[in-house]
Amino acid sequence: APSMPDGTSRTFDTLLSEVFGFASFRPGQRDIVQAVTEGQNALAIMPTGGGKSLCFQLPALCRDGVTVVVSPLIALMRDQVRALREAGVAAGALTSGNTDDETEAVFAALDEGTLKLLYLAPERLAASGTQAMLRRIGVGLIAVDEAHCVSQWGHDFRPDYLRIGELRASLNVPLAAFTATADAETRAEITTRLFGGSPPQEFLHGFDRPNIHLAFAPKDGPRRQILDFAAARRGQSGIVYCATRAKTETLSKALREDGHPATFYHGGMEADARRDVEERFQREDGLIVVATVAFGMGIDKPDIRWVAHADLPKSIESYYQEIGRAGRDGAPAETLTLFGSDDIRLRRTQIDESLAPPERRDADHGRLNALLGLAEALECRRSTLLSYFGDSVTTCGNCDLCDRPPDVIDGTDAVRKALSAILRTGENFGAGHLIDILTGTQTDKISQRGHDKLPTFGVGREFTKAQWQGLFRQMMGRDLLRPDRERHGALFMTEAARPILKGEQRIKLRRDAIAARQRSGPAVK
Ligand code: ADP
Repeated sequence: APSMPDGTSRTFDTLLSEVFGFASFRPGQRDIVQAVTEGQNALAIMPTGGGKSLCFQLPALCRDGVTVVVSPLIALMRDQVRALREAGVAAGALTSGNTDDETEAVFAALDEGTLKLLYLAPERLAASGTQAMLRRIGVGLIAVDEAHCVSQWGHDFRPDYLRIGELRASLNVPLAAFTATADAETRAEITTRLFGGSPPQEFLHGFDRPNIHLAFAPKDGPRRQILDFAAARRGQSGIVYCATRAKTETLSKALREDGHPATFYHGGMEADARRDVEERFQREDGLIVVATVAFGMGIDKPDIRWVAHADLPKSIESYYQEIGRAGRDGAPAETLTLFGSDDIRLRRTQIDESLAPPERRDADHGRLNALLGLAEALECRRSTLLSYFGDSVTTCGNCDLCDRPPDVIDGTDAVRKALSAILRTGENFGAGHLIDILTGTQTDKISQRGHDKLPTFGVGREFTKAQWQGLFRQMMGRDLLRPDRERHGALFMTEAARPILKGEQRIKLRRDAIAARQRSGPAVK
């Protein structure tokens, strides 16, 4: 049984300053340290850089026995072991990166009973003898870093993580799991697979990044929108994320022609070229990197002043991670995310065409919906974002919607007209044709199909085609309509739209998304 003789705040504070050299805990750390030290099962969700490692390292010093730390990131483990040793803590790692001498030294320390923290690569759990070794050495706590790796639907799934649950059960010790991934499905999976289904104490902290200004805009001449955004921030380091490799090259060229130091980065480049860009970005003030999502993992530049998305990210988690690269130094930083109907279609199609099992695809649609909901939000962007992560904020005052609350109109009639056009044509057509029907536009396709005879023909003349495009985008954004991948983007009605069609529910829409689309709205096909 864990002995917790003097796990008082005083002890924590002393260890914090004397061993780790920190003056105070960050928000949330103390509560987690307390719970983990007391031997409670805990799941802590903190964003990257939030200070998770302290939350198991400090308890490891307070508890009897060895704390086993499982992490998939070998380089990071080795860094932590080195830092702990320098701080005078007996720590060791068993990973594929070890030399034989290192491994031997770790086993010797385990035999002597002097080791406090043992870092373990997940594949070690599969090695014969590991479980027996762990039973022998007297484990007092299991800490699991990057706990979302246990999720089979996630991108970082590690089959060996599935063994951790068995290990916890067989050693019968408390387990503390840490991750930056906060969505509900992943949390549920972690609970099932690591904690055998009995819910751990959950901690969720630090998702708010109050210095980052949040803004979204519908695409309306997107290249110009990005160039304008960059021009207003001349001389500042920034990242522009694009959905395709080709676009990173053309957009960085456009930025250079506009007088910015700019370069591009994507996964198709040679490793050397990529490293050059990373180093240049780190070193050079005011460089703009136009990149795919491949740019990010290794970036640790504190003074990135802005992040723009030239295309909609693929999920709310990706959005959060990508904008989160701005303003790590705490000084004001700005973001702009562009989105259009073409993005929504692209992201839906990517999910539908992925080889993932159906449940995973449903979850991915859900994550995309959450992002689209954020894009079409009617009030405080930040509270919408944080409530998705289960975190909260009282007043934001640092997003486009707080700056200028959007004008809303009752869009119920417009939505019902559009739904009617969709249903009367058998959910067989894309937005372009549907808009021709609504606006009463005679085209060959209309007359061939006899759609000018429909009662819906011309019922939407109060809006221009461009305004209807804005309406269709908002309807897709609210997940009232989805493109059918089997039929080239023919739009069908979702269950969420049924109450509106039946007159049981009204819906508010943003006026600007309708009004501003007169000239050059994105083409909706
Ligand atoms: P992550 O949550 O990404 O695992 P780390 O544990 O690596 O984050 O911590 C991120 C950084 O924050 C590290 O440089 C760490 O030294 C620092 N840090 C953690 N806790 C504190 C604290 N209480 N005070 C100051 N710095 C801290």
